[in-house]
Amino acid sequence: MTSVMCTVCGVREAFYLRSYSGEKLCAKCFLESIEDRVRATISKYSMFKFNDRIAVAVSGGKDSLSLLHILARIERDFPLASLCAITVDEGIAGYRDEAIEIASENCRELRVEHFIISFKELYGFTLDEIVERLKASKSGMTPCSYCGVLRRKALNVLAMKVGATKIATAHNLDDEIQTFMLNIIHGDILRIPRTSPTFDEEEPGLVPRVKPLCEILEKEVTLYAYLKGIRFQENPCPYAGEALRNDIRNTLNRLEEKHPGTKYKIYRSAEKVREAMRDKVPRITLKKCQLCGEPTVGDICRACSLLKNIKML
Ligand code: SF4
Ligand code: ZN
Ligand code: ZN
Repeated sequence: MTSVMCTVCGVREAFYLRSYSGEKLCAKCFLESIEDRVRATISKYSMFKFNDRIAVAVSGGKDSLSLLHILARIERDFPLASLCAITVDEGIAGYRDEAIEIASENCRELRVEHFIISFKELYGFTLDEIVERLKASKSGMTPCSYCGVLRRKALNVLAMKVGATKIATAHNLDDEIQTFMLNIIHGDILRIPRTSPTFDEEEPGLVPRVKPLCEILEKEVTLYAYLKGIRFQENPCPYAGEALRNDIRNTLNRLEEKHPGTKYKIYRSAEKVREAMRDKVPRITLKKCQLCGEPTVGDICRACSLLKNIKML
């Protein structure tokens, strides 16, 4: 049987067919293509300034650890001031402990400083304790709706504390287009420009977020992690279960299989919609939360109002 050669280097055997582009790639060229794409994304959206202190939000999963490895590698090309990793310990017994241990191990290997903040120290409750209260209240709120809001705030608090000027999150292309579809389904059109790969409105007290993996398919991030031998947590969170997002994920995967390139086409459409809406969305001036001082649209931030509910339950 004749072996198929890599269409990029022409000297090594191909192992992966990139169906949306037709390229057949060897492992080395595949890895380089991912790093090049991340570099291109960073400069396309001007994600970093030369003196940024970048805090990579590391959960311990494949996406965030791949991002950390890629940024640690391309840090040499970008004259970045420094890179550190930040992790939120939500307090999910039997799940997050293992993830944190794996995250720390990767940081040690890459010689990247690692900072951790827990829900318990910041809010007084672990997520497990919040879930117990939610069950008792029959409020219909899901663990993820609490966790998402509380983690967002925790990341900002920790990033500010360690002097970070950017938070890099590991959202990949699949995450981005799922969110786009969810916003359309829910009619949350004004959210579309706010979920861009870079959060460019500078607000005091809010560390801007960037998503350097936003143009990489999820399956290619996974492949990158495996080929690099990155140790990551494979078990899903016991509370995971955003039903509609999962259905959208499955539908998009089926479409991509049948019509390669669909995901990138949806991504480009989202970019066009954002561009068209750029000046039409009113700029929100943030105030300080009356309870915790974090930036917020109203008088009390969403995290504090969710915590108030919990304490009242
Ligand atoms: Fe939090 Fe939900 Fe993610 Fe679990 S799946 S870590 S509960 S947002
Ligand atoms: Zn090659
Ligand atoms: Zn608050």
